[in-house]
Amino acid sequence: MKNFNRQDLSRLSSWPQIAGPFAAGLFPQSALVISNTPGVEPGVSLCRSLLCEEREASSACRCRSCHTDFAGHPDIHLLIPSPHTIKVADVRIAVQSLLYRPLWSPVRIIWIQAAETLTPESANLLLKAVEEPAPYVHFVLTTNNPDQVLPTIRSRCQRFVIADPDSQPIDSLPPDWMMARPLLPDHVVQAARFARMQFRQSYQRHWLGIWEELWQAYDALAANANQDIVREHLRQLWARR
Ligand SMILES: [Zn+2]
Repeated sequence: MKNFNRQDLSRLSSWPQIAGPFAAGLFPQSALVISNTPGVEPGVSLCRSLLCEEREASSACRCRSCHTDFAGHPDIHLLIPSPHTIKVADVRIAVQSLLYRPLWSPVRIIWIQAAETLTPESANLLLKAVEEPAPYVHFVLTTNNPDQVLPTIRSRCQRFVIADPDSQPIDSLPPDWMMARPLLPDHVVQAARFARMQFRQSYQRHWLGIWEELWQAYDALAANANQDIVREHLRQLWARR
């Protein structure tokens, strides 16, 4: 726990835009929050939105959960690398905590910071819990290195990509991004960020579908799939937008 920066957490109270569409019960039970920014802020904001007792999309909420230090909330269990990996004994305690219904909030959250540091043993134990969660349970995994997260875990989580706030807004894609040789997972990340932004602006669900398919392409590329096949799939996918 000593790596956990409580200072970072206590100053967070606002919702990111990404939380909006998921507030009304649409948030997946297993989420992988991918961020290229240091720190844990995006995932914390998502968790706060889940823990809120009023279900109000507002940073001014006065409920007990919104005014409690995130790390001290009774309905969240934090799994933090200690010092470099998340150990199976810690995962076991977290999974056992899921037997109890939430105390304050509508949900109980297992927070896994730096999901790429789960050992294979830890990941296996976690997988069993992720596969059959009680309806009030959410798993929020965060990572800065999605390709280092074990594929068995990654494939069971819905992904959220938090763009670097310092980067330029992506309002159009280079027309030849799909033609890039080699086609890199990073190219697909760019497209996924674009799709996510379109969804946030329009709330049109077909952008979510495109976004999810882009992540499948990302996984395929990361697993060294045939580039021409993936490129053709992307071309067809993009033509549907
Ligand atoms: Zn609240």
